[in-house]
Amino acid sequence: MTDTYRHKGLRKRLVASLEQRGIKDEAVLAAIGAVPRHFFLDNAFEEHAYEDKPFPIGNEQTISQPYTVAYMTELLEVKRGDRILEIGTGSGYQAAILAAMGARVFTVERQEALYISAKKLLAAIGFSSVRCFFRDGSKGMPEYAPYDKIVVTAGAPVVPEPLLRQLRTGGMLIIPVGEDVQYMYRITRIAETEFKEEVFDAFRFVPFLEGVAPKK
Ligand code: SAH
Repeated sequence: MTDTYRHKGLRKRLVASLEQRGIKDEAVLAAIGAVPRHFFLDNAFEEHAYEDKPFPIGNEQTISQPYTVAYMTELLEVKRGDRILEIGTGSGYQAAILAAMGARVFTVERQEALYISAKKLLAAIGFSSVRCFFRDGSKGMPEYAPYDKIVVTAGAPVVPEPLLRQLRTGGMLIIPVGEDVQYMYRITRIAETEFKEEVFDAFRFVPFLEGVAPKK
């Protein structure tokens, strides 16, 4: 896998277009400028890796559109050293962005094949600090809780309770909620039993499903 000047140039243009669409967090833009998105796509899509579009990654799943990744990451207000739990590893791209920003990342995937390929890829391209797990993220991952941040990258019909319990006080959960269309929610745990809810723009995600996927 190589990251050429051409790829770097295309990434610069992508970053500029995200800025134009309203992404302001410099650290988010720097991470998108640094992480080679074409490593996370099938060769067939390499030419298109720096277009602001989602692409299929197998098992009926998709790598999110760069704008969506940037939007969610900006809402997360990532700080170096944050412990972040991601539900929905998919290609591993969002996890790599968080790691590039200095977060300690735990990521969970319910499709075994995607878990295996993302884990391998992340290690091969210098993100071996990202800890990958094959399991159902609807229960979160209590053994490493509490987290400073939790991000769900699939559309959930409702907010899974266990995720709220695994936030530290002051921590926040970013989750797209809804059936056909999802609204981006940011839920902040302001005290042990007190949560603040904010609702942002509408997006369309692949579904958040309970249980691990059956082997194919
Ligand atoms: N963050 C990914 C986007 C992947 S799409 C990326 O950057 O490429 C969402 C992923 O969430 C899919 O791979 C899907 O299998 C996974 N998913 C859906 N429900 C889940 C659950 N309950 N636990 C873990 N993963 C889940």
